[in-house]
Amino acid sequence: MEMLKGKKAVIFGVANERSIAWAISRSLHEEGAELAFTYAGEVLEKRVRPLAEGIGSRIILPCDVTKDGQIDEVFATLKAEWGALDILVHAIAFAAKEDLSNPYLQTSRQGFQLALDVSSYSLVALSRHAASLMEGRKGAILTLTYMGSEKVIPHYNVMGVAKAALEASVRYLAHDLGPKGIRVNAISAGPIKTLAAAGIPGFKEMLHYSSERAPLRRNVDAEEVARAALYLVSDMASAVTGEVLHVDGGYNIMGM
Ligand code: NAP
Repeated sequence: MEMLKGKKAVIFGVANERSIAWAISRSLHEEGAELAFTYAGEVLEKRVRPLAEGIGSRIILPCDVTKDGQIDEVFATLKAEWGALDILVHAIAFAAKEDLSNPYLQTSRQGFQLALDVSSYSLVALSRHAASLMEGRKGAILTLTYMGSEKVIPHYNVMGVAKAALEASVRYLAHDLGPKGIRVNAISAGPIKTLAAAGIPGFKEMLHYSSERAPLRRNVDAEEVARAALYLVSDMASAVTGEVLHVDGGYNIMGM
């Protein structure tokens, strides 16, 4: 069964084959969706282009989400090529290295602004553009978050604050876009070894800790996140919006 046959999806946040966005892309592709990709810089283009072309994607565009002009370009191209859009996947986050190693108290104004700009505001900007192409198409917008938004995770620091803003944005965007039939949801994934995760000091410890304490007594993998993503962007979740779905082996329910 091809659940997403005829659907057009744009994916932000593939860095390499380990990216959560890449696992999501593969599962959307397997269900028949046509995909467009963006990459953040020339170095990444070398990784993203072969992956994207390998699953038959023709639209592969540069987009640093801190640059409004590049965002405009992406959606102008999607409008010209496709004329419409059904799915937006936002799997982007960034914080300066020092803001993940120093105490949160030391976060600079610049570091705070950068983390929230890339990791939170970008969802608002991308959703605004996407919504104009989703008119009358029951669009679905999906982002990725982490429970460092809800509870203190040592070293996650300003990213936790950015994820809290991201999750609140999911709710406000769901409210704004609901009358147009557009749904906005997030997946709060357990820790998974990726490029972005490698930048978090003590990430190995996070993996170990969550596998010992999660009710399922193991970590999750990107394919499990991708299956939940498929549910959220498909008609299976037609009445679900403004939701943060934990895909973390149940870790988030634990008190002790
Ligand atoms: P990843 O493969 O490194 O993906 C992160 C992506 O964000 C990269 O493609 C990166 O590009 C992009 N990005 C950073 N700054 C950008 C900018 N200014 N403009 C455009 N793109 C930019 O890591 P991932 O773990 O799959 O992360 C995907 C999402 O899942 C993130 O939101 C992350 O917070 C979330 N998440 C991850 C985990 C985990 O344990 N891995 C758990 C929960 C949630 P560059 O490489 O060029 O910077």
